[in-house]
Formats: sequence, structure tokens, C-alpha cells
Amino acid sequence: MADDGSVIGRRRFLSDAALGAAGMMAAPDAGGTAPSQASGQSAAGHTHAEEHQAVPSDVALRVKALESLLIEKGMVKGDQLDEIVQTYQATIGPRNGARVVARAWTDPVYKQRLMRDATAAIAELGYSGAQGEHMVVVENTPTVHNLVVCTLCSCYPWPTLGLPPAWYKSAGYRSRAVIDPRGVLREFGVHVADEVEVRVWDSTAELRYLVLPKRPAGSERLSEADLAVLVTRDSMIGAGVLPPIGDQK
Ligand code: FE
Repeated sequence: MADDGSVIGRRRFLSDAALGAAGMMAAPDAGGTAPSQASGQSAAGHTHAEEHQAVPSDVALRVKALESLLIEKGMVKGDQLDEIVQTYQATIGPRNGARVVARAWTDPVYKQRLMRDATAAIAELGYSGAQGEHMVVVENTPTVHNLVVCTLCSCYPWPTLGLPPAWYKSAGYRSRAVIDPRGVLREFGVHVADEVEVRVWDSTAELRYLVLPKRPAGSERLSEADLAVLVTRDSMIGAGVLPPIGDQK
């Protein structure tokens, strides 16, 4: 339902997923007949095929079940959940983290505070709260490259980076980042020289990491605001590096 691009889209996505599953339970062979119905148009204006493509996975169904339960028990309201997801997906994203990085690059005293007590220094810029209570910043240097993972699940610093990308939550990344970090980095297009040490940091609910990437070559004259635009999400996880100025895609 990416074409909706809205809160309503997410809610309908989950609702469709539940309806799709219910339909399959009622008619176990429905999945086999779906292709012949591919040209059908639903009341919502989506083709039958689109709806079936969107019926995902167990994960969406589990989310729907949990969401329904929380709402039913009066623990949350549906629109509160939508607001949280929307805020972390669209408003926050990784832009807050990028501002922290740009400030550290341009203000050495701020950087000292950031390296000493990241939680407090990040909060100075107004970024704090759930999933960011205990932050540590690790700095990439000419001799050290840092990579962040959560081997157990998907711990991630929401106030600075928003919601984690799907690959960060995948079993492959979570295991291989530890076993073969250089190999994983190569797959991200990051080639770390042999003489550079790779440090892998395992995020937990107690401690979440933000990588301070190396400032791009040729960026000496850029302002803090212009620098912030250059900072990518992946560079703050350690799964990316920032190209020299002029090489940006
Ligand atoms: Fe986790």
C-alpha cells in the first residue's frame, strides 16, 4: 500500500492482511484461485491481485493481532499508534542523528561532550526519549571503523535514527555482522582497508549506539546545516561511509 503513503494506508494494509487471512481460513483453496481473479476491482479501487500481493506475512498478521488486543484492552488508542509510527517514519527518520553528527564535526567542544556523555549531548539538541535513553557514540577514524548491530532483536536509537531498516532486523545481518563484519560491509559497498580495525557494537535495550562517521573529504567549507544534509542513515549505523564532496550520488 505504498501508494497510499499515509496513516490510513498503514491501517488499511493491516486490515486487508487480516481480511485476507480470514478469507483463506474460510476457503483454504482460495490462494489457488486468486490468479484467475486478478483483474477484479475491489470497492476500494484496488485490484484483487494488488490486495493479494499486499497480504503479507505472518509478521503483519501478528502486528494486527497485537494491535487489536492492545486497543481492546484499552491500553492504547489506534490513532496513537498511527501517530507514533508516522512520527518515527517520516518526521524523525535519521535527520536528527545527522544534525548531531554535523554539530560534532563543526563544534569540537560539543563533540567532546558527545563522546563523554552521548545521551546528554544528544538531548541538548532536543532528541531524547523512548529507545534513546542510554546512548553511546563511537567515532570512525582513519584507523577504526565501527559497525552497529543488535544480535538479539532490533535495538536501535529511535530519537536519532527513526525506525530501523528491514535489513537491520534480518537474521542474516544480525548474525553475519558479528561473524564476518568485513564481508557484510563489502556487501554494503564499504571496503575497509586491512589495516583499519573493524569494531562491532551490539546494541541492547540498555545501550544503543550511534556511529560518528568520518567527515567527507572536501567538506571543510560547508556549514553545519549543509553538512547535516550529507549524513546518511547507513553511515550512522556504520554500514555506509560518506563519499568525498563532489562524489555524492
Ligand atoms: Fe534488540
